[in-house]
Amino acid sequence: MLNLVLFGPPGAGKGTQSAKLIEKYQLVHISTGDLFRMHISNDTELGKRVKQILADGLLVPDSITIDMLEEEVQKNPQAKGFIFDGFPRTVAQAEALDAFLEGKSEKINGVVQLDVNQDEIKHRIAERQKISGRADDDADKLLKRIDEYFSKTIHVLPYYEAQGKVTKVNGIGDIDEIFNNVCTAIDSL
Ligand code: ADP
Repeated sequence: MLNLVLFGPPGAGKGTQSAKLIEKYQLVHISTGDLFRMHISNDTELGKRVKQILADGLLVPDSITIDMLEEEVQKNPQAKGFIFDGFPRTVAQAEALDAFLEGKSEKINGVVQLDVNQDEIKHRIAERQKISGRADDDADKLLKRIDEYFSKTIHVLPYYEAQGKVTKVNGIGDIDEIFNNVCTAIDSL
């Protein structure tokens, strides 16, 4: 299996790069943000629990997120591997993912860090909101999400760095050029 984590702040382009990667590497894409939004739009029990949390730009509690992620992996027993997008976002999630994969004699093969500075993120998300209308893309919710990223999610990087798994790729520039650099990082794993 090839199991990858795409890591980066909100608006780094994880979704865009994931879409291209699944095609090239035939992996299953799991975006916890997309899954939460699906639960919310289907008004499921889980959706009702997380709706306000997403609207506020805060992180969903680890236990809820981890259970949902594991369930999604189990739904794909034939997968050649997974791209985890937006997960793990806390060190507890990263540890849970490692333990879960270890139970299946699998592991994370590599982490690609999409490197984008804060000014660029704010600009991109303001542009995205004009199209997506995502409630959590508005200015003060975005600041909350960036805050969550720098207070909690950023600590996931040293966790994987200690395992020697992180490759940093410049996330600014032409989408196809970024994709080529991401592929080079993956192909050298
Ligand atoms: P972005 O990367 O643009 O912030 P996502 O679609 O990845 O957007 O996530 C949207 C929201 O979903 C987050 O702000 C958070 O509320 C929730 N979420 C997604 N993934 C996680 C996670 N791994 N842990 C906790 N909350 C999450």
